[in-house]
Amino acid sequence: MQAPLGATRIRASGPPRVVIVGAGFAGLTAARALARAPVEVTLIDKRNYHLFQPLLYQVATAALSPAEIAAPIRAIVRRQKNVRVMLGKVDGIDTERQLVRSDAGDVPYDYLILATGARHAYFGRDEWEAFAPGLKKIEDATEIRTRILLAFERAELESDAARQAALLTFVIVGGGPTGVELAGAITELGRMALAADFRRIDPRRTRVVLVEAGPRLLPAFPESLSEIARRALVKLGVEVRLGKPVGVCDADGVVIDGERLAARTVVWAAGVAASPAGKWLRTNVDRAGRVKVAPDLSVSGHADVFAVGDTALVPGPDRAPVPGIAPAAKQQGKYVAGVIAARVAGRTAPAPFRYRHAGNLATIGRRAAVIDFNGFKLSGFVAWLLWGAAHIYFLIGFRNRLVVLLSWLWAYVTFKRGVRLITGREA
Ligand SMILES: Cc1cc2nc3c(=O)[nH]c(=O)nc-3n(C[C@H](O)[C@H](O)[C@H](O)COP(=O)(O)OP(=O)(O)OC[C@H]3O[C@@H](n4cnc5c(N)ncnc54)[C@H](O)[C@@H]3O)c2cc1C
Repeated sequence: MQAPLGATRIRASGPPRVVIVGAGFAGLTAARALARAPVEVTLIDKRNYHLFQPLLYQVATAALSPAEIAAPIRAIVRRQKNVRVMLGKVDGIDTERQLVRSDAGDVPYDYLILATGARHAYFGRDEWEAFAPGLKKIEDATEIRTRILLAFERAELESDAARQAALLTFVIVGGGPTGVELAGAITELGRMALAADFRRIDPRRTRVVLVEAGPRLLPAFPESLSEIARRALVKLGVEVRLGKPVGVCDADGVVIDGERLAARTVVWAAGVAASPAGKWLRTNVDRAGRVKVAPDLSVSGHADVFAVGDTALVPGPDRAPVPGIAPAAKQQGKYVAGVIAARVAGRTAPAPFRYRHAGNLATIGRRAAVIDFNGFKLSGFVAWLLWGAAHIYFLIGFRNRLVVLLSWLWAYVTFKRGVRLITGREA
């Protein structure tokens, strides 16, 4: 006989099976938080590594190499005996039979945690992706790095002045933290790291245009910090265009508010859409595809299935959705692990999930950042030091922390970028 919808069916013998899909911030935190629970955890990811996305922009701008911001999932959980890691791409959930469907086989579960994150979205203009790649994966970062470095190489060989100018023009669409960080880093790449390396072009003429449809940069920050960030970018040499949506994006560049801007490199940092987890469950999602969850982060009608991190729509204390940032994903992963541990132990369920916002950080070039710690605002060099310390602290793996710290010190002292590799092209 089938259990009623929403009831949890646990296998008759052996510890309950917890399947976690996604070893990002939310999934990995959930797995670690279950270390002492009497459960069998299967952690499935389509990649064999955990990626520290906040530093992806540094891979895209030749400051860090991919291995410095990623760590093998197996190595991270190797000491945790109740976790099994599985490399596989999930493409469906059979909630009736409690099975996760993947290209590596079906995996039965008693409890399921969906932590599959988000990807970039083009507001219905998917054809723009070919001209304006987004930044979400290592492959995106190395592709953007290649496009940026190739643009300088081609500009060096170009004799037509207009085409050369288009090659030296870089447009970033989206004025959130990623857009701000990319704009600062590309400007410094041209004006400092590459300045003396070319003979025909002057990389200091690099033009970086940051386009934001809304009225200000960094909309999640207090207005005063948005303005500080804008001024710091302008001082670096970035052209900031606010309140102007991009209307066209093609091989020749973009059209902003009716004006054509010739640019051979455009990077998309504007929109995100959740993973297809909502489709797998055929459940309620918002416009960005995020799964609507109950106060204990379970999915409506499926008490044994939880959605966490960027793929979930979780109301915050002010009813606005909890932001798609790493600390929020970690808090949700930890909370759901607690709910499952309590159920397995027959304890009372924890109080509903409550998000605690620690703050927002964004860096602007190599010496400035803006930080908002719940109303405590900081900007400039001290903020940049704190930003750096926080990122080093949260990176996984001692080796990565050390190498990133050394790379930053080296770049700070020499103005050089160590990873100027054009990859992914026929030699
Ligand atoms: C460029 C960039 C910069 C950012 N900067 C910051 C920042 O400075 N500070 C901050 O707090 N946040 C930042 N964020 C946001 C932060 O990275 C996310 O909020 C966080 O990663 C969400 O965690 P998650 O566990 O929900 O998803 P993710 O960390 O994205 O993990 C999802 C995991 O699921 C796996 N997966 C997806 N689909 C499948 C499938 N079908 N089958 C198997 N596995 C699957 C993926 O491989 C991945 O490992 C940034 C994001 C980006 C893209």
